[in-house]
Amino acid sequence: MSNTTRIWTAIDFDLDGKQADYLRLPYSSNMSAYGWIPIPLICIRNGRGPTILLSAGNHGDEYEGQIALIKLAREISPSQVNGRIIILPSLNYPAVAAGQRVSPIDEGNLNRLFPGKAHGSPTEMLAHYIDDVLFPISDLVIDLHSGGRSLEYLPLALARPGLTPEHQEAVRELLRAFDAPVGVLTDGEGGGGATTLYAAAEQRGIPALTTELGGGATLSPVGLAIAETGVRRVLKHYGIVPDMAVRETNGCRLMRSLGRNAAVYATESGLFQPFAAVGDVVEAGQEAGCIHSYESPLTPPVVLRFPTGGMVSCRRFPTMTARGDCLYNLMTDVGRPL
Ligand code: ZN
Repeated sequence: MSNTTRIWTAIDFDLDGKQADYLRLPYSSNMSAYGWIPIPLICIRNGRGPTILLSAGNHGDEYEGQIALIKLAREISPSQVNGRIIILPSLNYPAVAAGQRVSPIDEGNLNRLFPGKAHGSPTEMLAHYIDDVLFPISDLVIDLHSGGRSLEYLPLALARPGLTPEHQEAVRELLRAFDAPVGVLTDGEGGGGATTLYAAAEQRGIPALTTELGGGATLSPVGLAIAETGVRRVLKHYGIVPDMAVRETNGCRLMRSLGRNAAVYATESGLFQPFAAVGDVVEAGQEAGCIHSYESPLTPPVVLRFPTGGMVSCRRFPTMTARGDCLYNLMTDVGRPL
C-alpha cells in the first residue's frame, strides 16, 4: 500500500498571502460517503524566510493554545512576515469539537500516535500528514498543550533533549526565545514518550517545544498570556515577524522532569484529597494526599507519599480517582541557566 497521504487542502503552501482552508481528512461514513473532516488551517507567507508550524487542540480539551493561535491567525497580515507561518489551532478537530481529549470518531489520542499511518484510522492519518508533509517544510515547531480535563499544570514549556549537540542548542534557543516562566527538559517518560508530535519533530531534527499551560478543561488567563507572549517572542526572535510587539518576560527557570519513578499514582480507587498544590516544593516521604473509600466509609483512607523530593509540576484535577491514575508529577532544577 502506498505511503502517500490521503489528506488534502486547497491551500498552496508556496503562495504568498494569507490563506485559510482546512486539512481535508477523508472520512466515509453512513451519512457522508465522500466527505472529509475539516481541520482548520491557516498559512501566512511572504517571501523567503523560516517556516514555523504552530499547533494547538492536539488534545481537544486544552484551550490556552487554541485561543492564542486563533487570535494570532486573525491578527497577523502577510506584509509583517518574512517566511511562512502555518497555524493549526484545532488540530485534532473532532476532539476539539467534542470538547474532549481524544477523537470521538476513533478514540484516537493524536499525541500518542506519531508518526502515524497514511492509511490508518482518521487520527493516525492526521499524525502521518503532520509528520510526512508538514514537518519536512518546517524549520520550527511549537505544539501548545495544557493539562486537559484530568490534570492541573504549573504553566511551563517542555523540550526534549535533541539528537545532536547542535540540535540540543537549537532547542535551547527556542526555549529561551519562548521564555516561559519554567522550561522543562524531558524524555517524555510517564507521558507520551516517542509517540508525541514534538518527539516526532525531534526525530526529524527540528527544534520543537510543547507547553503545559493550565488544565481542568478551562482557560487559565496566566497560561493564555504565556502562550501569546511566547509565540510572539519566537516569531520576532527568528525574524519571521521582525516588528512584532512583545511583552517583557522575566526569564526561564530551567528544570527537568523526574519521570515515572518520582510520580505518585493512585494505589486504590476512591476520592482523592490532595495535600500539595502545583508549584509546591515537596520532600521525599512527605504526605502527598489520601484516597477515601466512598464504598466503605469506615475504612481508613489510604495515605500516599512522595517517593522523592522536587517541585510539583502537575496534579490530578478530578477528585474521583481509579487505581493507576497519575496524581502528581515532579520536576527539579537543573542547576544551571538555560
Ligand atoms: Zn495535551
